[in-house]
Amino acid sequence: MIQRYPIDVCQPDSQDALSRQITWHDVPPKLSVQSDKAALKQALAKQLKEQDAVLVAHYYTDPDIQDLALETGGCVGDSLEMARFGQEHTASTVLVAGVGFMAESAKILSPEKRVLAVHDEATCSLDLGCAPEDFKQFCAAHPDREVVVYANTSAAVKAQADWVVTSSIALDIVRHLHAQGKKILWAPDRHLGSYIQKQTGADMLLWQGSCLVHDEFKADGLKAVMSEHPDAQVLVHPESPASVVALANVVGSTTQLLRAAINHSADTFIVATDQGILHAMRQQAPGKTFLAAPTAGESATCKSCAYCPWMALNSLEALRQRLSQPGPGIQVASDLREGARRSLQRMMDFAAAQQSNLRVSADLAEHSQQFQHVGAA
Ligand code: SF4
Repeated sequence: MIQRYPIDVCQPDSQDALSRQITWHDVPPKLSVQSDKAALKQALAKQLKEQDAVLVAHYYTDPDIQDLALETGGCVGDSLEMARFGQEHTASTVLVAGVGFMAESAKILSPEKRVLAVHDEATCSLDLGCAPEDFKQFCAAHPDREVVVYANTSAAVKAQADWVVTSSIALDIVRHLHAQGKKILWAPDRHLGSYIQKQTGADMLLWQGSCLVHDEFKADGLKAVMSEHPDAQVLVHPESPASVVALANVVGSTTQLLRAAINHSADTFIVATDQGILHAMRQQAPGKTFLAAPTAGESATCKSCAYCPWMALNSLEALRQRLSQPGPGIQVASDLREGARRSLQRMMDFAAAQQSNLRVSADLAEHSQQFQHVGAA
């Protein structure tokens, strides 16, 4: 299988690396010897069992972490699936391989469990760019709007929201609110908000945050790859700029893009999201070719740098250190937890009702129409 662009960490002289330098500096080196890796994974599996812990990993984490999660009875998924899995699993400890808001969400939904983050410094540019106090003022200035926030926010921001949404369900919830005549205040990702606004026609006021990975995809570069692979399907996460989304055959969350890769009859896909997802795509759609969409401009030293530097902190070595010194785990103040839990639970109830509606509905044609552009929910 040919991969068009090598997956390299940005070189230090790359323009793109400047804003990431500190974070990349913290990324531990990968283990190169396979026997070392196998022995470490075996030891980690044993420790997970001894500590009654389940590993839940995001699609953007290192392939070794994703494999270990699946091999030990944990899960690999998007942030909603991770939180739901941790909530339903019987283990007393949930170990989150992802970023800070994912560990917080797991704790909010499972307050009785010990929730550990693999790496304490793993965060998210969307979360960092939406400070709770600033957001409070934004909400106070627009009291007539329903507050809908993306899952990539702190518990303190979620607690101020009416709804929390993930990218897999955001479109459906906004469509539902719009049908009720509600005006929406949306935060923090401006590209996702703008995409949903266009799809639904809802009245949405947007916070101006962005994901440092998806913000970097370039329409011109993507067009060049598309012209080299005219039969390829283009899969795009809606945190990408509108000019990139406009070129997509499928727009959707990580889970939706993965399902499109599995179910579509095409042989080749160009993927505009964090390259960590390519591991699950290659595992679950063997024989197909997946190309990373380009992020870098003319002056960059690599063609695609679509790796989240914070997700990359989730290494086997970091996991080993966490299990050696687990500590008390993630703490969320009870008032914030209750507020955030209400808006998170609202989304989960909506998702459960939607699933049940889909099951009882005989009108499958209507639903396949609904998911035509976003992939299966
Ligand atoms: S990929 Fe983007 S949205 Fe996801 S954790 Fe990293 S910075 Fe945040």
